[in-house]
Amino acid sequence: MPETLASPPAAAPLTIRMHAADNVAIVANDGGLPAGTALPGGAVVLRDRVPQGHKVALVDLARGAAVLRYGVPIGHALDPIPAGSWVHERLLQMPEARGLENLPMATVKPEPQPPLEGYTFEGYRNPDGSVGTRNILAITQTVQCVAGVTDFAVKRIKAELLPKYPHVDDVVALEHGYGCGVAIDAPDAVIPIRTLRHISLNPNFGGEVMVVSLGCEKLQPERLFPSDAIPIQNARGTGFAGPQGVPPLPGGEPRSGAGGLDTVCLQDDAHVGFMSMVESILRQAEEHLKRLNARQRVTVPASELVVGVQCGGSDAFSGVTANPAVGFCTDLLVRAGASVMFSETTEVRDGIAQLTARATTPEVAQAMVREMAWYDAYLKRGSVDRSANTTPGNKKGGLSNIVEKAMGSIVKSGSAPISNVLSPGEKLKAKGLTYAATPASDFICGTLQLAAGMNLHVFTTGRGTPYGLAPVPVIKVATRSDLARRWHDLMDLNAGTIADGTASIEDVGWALFHLMLDVASGRRQTWAERWKLHNALVLFNPAPVT
Ligand code: CA
Repeated sequence: MPETLASPPAAAPLTIRMHAADNVAIVANDGGLPAGTALPGGAVVLRDRVPQGHKVALVDLARGAAVLRYGVPIGHALDPIPAGSWVHERLLQMPEARGLENLPMATVKPEPQPPLEGYTFEGYRNPDGSVGTRNILAITQTVQCVAGVTDFAVKRIKAELLPKYPHVDDVVALEHGYGCGVAIDAPDAVIPIRTLRHISLNPNFGGEVMVVSLGCEKLQPERLFPSDAIPIQNARGTGFAGPQGVPPLPGGEPRSGAGGLDTVCLQDDAHVGFMSMVESILRQAEEHLKRLNARQRVTVPASELVVGVQCGGSDAFSGVTANPAVGFCTDLLVRAGASVMFSETTEVRDGIAQLTARATTPEVAQAMVREMAWYDAYLKRGSVDRSANTTPGNKKGGLSNIVEKAMGSIVKSGSAPISNVLSPGEKLKAKGLTYAATPASDFICGTLQLAAGMNLHVFTTGRGTPYGLAPVPVIKVATRSDLARRWHDLMDLNAGTIADGTASIEDVGWALFHLMLDVASGRRQTWAERWKLHNALVLFNPAPVT
C-alpha cells in the first residue's frame, strides 16, 4: 500500500514509498523536483534534480547496499549514494534472476474472500456457453497471402452488407504473418497454429467460423481446424461441399471446403478473376451475418467476464497507481466468480517466488515453473535474458531495470490465489485467476489472451500508447494525471488520482469494475473503439521459418 508522505497542494513536494522497508521513494510531482527541495519532514534535501517518477535516496546508501522498492532489492549501489540523490539505473547493479529451484510451492493460504454477488452485464450467450461482449464477424485466414484479397472484400462487406445487419458491430479480418514459409512440423509450431484456431473461436465471434484460404499453403484449413474443433452451428453453413451433406450452390458457383468448415479457397478452379473471389467471400459472409444479426444481449452474471490484464509503455507510476488499482479490481472479479488472466512472462519472472507461493496447489505452482523455465531457455537461445525487456521509455519514466518493472507489473494480479496456468495459445477453461504465459510484447500478449477467450481487455500505460484490438474492447488506464489530461480522448480511466492523493486504490479499482460492466454491456465504447484504433494480431511463433 503506498504511503503518501505528503499531500497536495500541487506545488508541495510529493513522494511515494511503496513499502515500509524501502530506502527510496519516487517523486510524484508533475515535472519532477529541483535540487535543494526539502522533502516533507525536512530530513532529506534533494542533491540533484529528480524527474517525475524517478527515485530519490531517503538514507545514505553504502557501496553494495541493496536499494529496496516494494520491499525487495531492485539493485545494489555501485558506489556510495548519499541521501537526497537521484537513484537512476546507472548507479545500480541489477540482481541476478532467482533460480527456479526450491521455490515456495502453494505455501500462501489467503483468507477466503466473501463472494461478490449481484453484479451483471448484458452479453451475447453463445451455443458453447461462453459469453461475448461484442457481436463481430471474424474472417479467419490460413495464410498471409490472402490478406489483400480479404481486406478488399471486408471493405465491401462493411459498405454493402453490414448496413443490412444492424445488430452486428463489425467485420474483422484476422490477418497474420503465419501459414507458409514456416517449419510447420517443428514442435513449437503448435503455438501459432492453436493461437489462430482459438482466436477464431473467441466468444465475440459467436461461434461463426469462416475461413479464407489460398490453397497451396502449409497451414491447410483442415490442419487449422481439425474436425473436432469446429463449432456445431458452422455445419449449417452453406456454399461449400462438405461431408455434412450441404447441397451445392446452383449455377456451378465457386465453392470449396475442408470438412464442415466454411472455406473460400482462392485457388479453386472455379474462381475466374479477382472479382469472383471477392464475390465468394461476400456471399459466404452474408450467411454468417444473418445468423449473427439474430444474436441478442441478455443479462448474465459478472462471472461471465473473461478479462485479460496487461501493461505497456510502463513508467514508475504503473506499479504505484494503475497496476495496484487493476490488482484490486482483479480481486473483485475473482470474488464475482469471473476469469482473470495476467501474463507477460519477462515482467513477472523476477517475482516467481511470490507467484508459486500464491498457487492453489503444488501442481499449479509447478506449471508456472515449467512456463518460466521454457521462457528462460527461449531467451537463452537468443543470447539474452529477461533484462532485454526494458525500453528507453521505461527508463525515462523512472524504471531502473526489469526487477523494478516486474515488481510493479505483478501487482496487476492482485492478491487472489492463482488457480490455473495456460501455455501460449491455449484456451481458458477455468474461472478464477490464471497465469496465461505470454511474452510481454503488447501485441503478442493481447493476441494470446484473445486466443485464451478474453472478452474484455484492460491495459495500463504510463508513457502512453494508443493500443487497441479489433476483436475485443480495450479499457486503457493512465498511470498519471498528466497523461490522462493530455490524452483525454484516448485514456478511459485515470489512476493518476491515486498519486495526486485525490482517490484511493480502492476507489479507482471499483471505478474500473463498474466501467468494465458498462463496456462489456455495450453501454459504453472505449476510446480505441470510438476511433477504431486497432493494432495487428501478432502470432507468437517460437519455431523456425524456412
Ligand atoms: Ca505488455
